[in-house]
Amino acid sequence: MAAKCVFLDRDGVINRERGDYTYKVQDFEIIKGVYEAIKVLKNLNYLIIVITNQAGISRQIFTRQDMEICHRYMHKKLDYMIDDIFYCPYHPDQTASLCRKPDSLMFERAIAKYHIDHSASWMAGDKEWDLIPAKKTGIKTIFINTDKESDYADYYAPDLITAVNEIIK
Ligand SMILES: [Mg+2]
Repeated sequence: MAAKCVFLDRDGVINRERGDYTYKVQDFEIIKGVYEAIKVLKNLNYLIIVITNQAGISRQIFTRQDMEICHRYMHKKLDYMIDDIFYCPYHPDQTASLCRKPDSLMFERAIAKYHIDHSASWMAGDKEWDLIPAKKTGIKTIFINTDKESDYADYYAPDLITAVNEIIK
């Protein structure tokens, strides 16, 4: 049976957006309500998959190991409820990659790996580039951003816990 999934952007959805790369555990501040939001979704049998651009790796601002330490911390803080993380280390300055959002390769890989039913799945992101690849792959979108409008947003929410109320309607 095909799985349903809620895809999550990382910075600005799970952890606080600092306006700069987050690659140290001490800067990795999980937003209030995120744990509870993910718990609700897991109880409804949604896969939780994080899709994140991490171009600081190819720009040599931080290493894969720095990122992995942050991700281990995130997994632990969220009780290992996140099923998988797809990240794109590339930056157009070095390598134009189809994995980097707003391109959709990370979504396509996740959909194939987990046999995800895109029409039953959602993407929550705080930037338009999070929504563009989701729409392209037939996934419903929630814009975690109440300051901007987007042609790619199906719904708007100020944070993930509010977004989940829309998903479970
Ligand atoms: Mg973000």
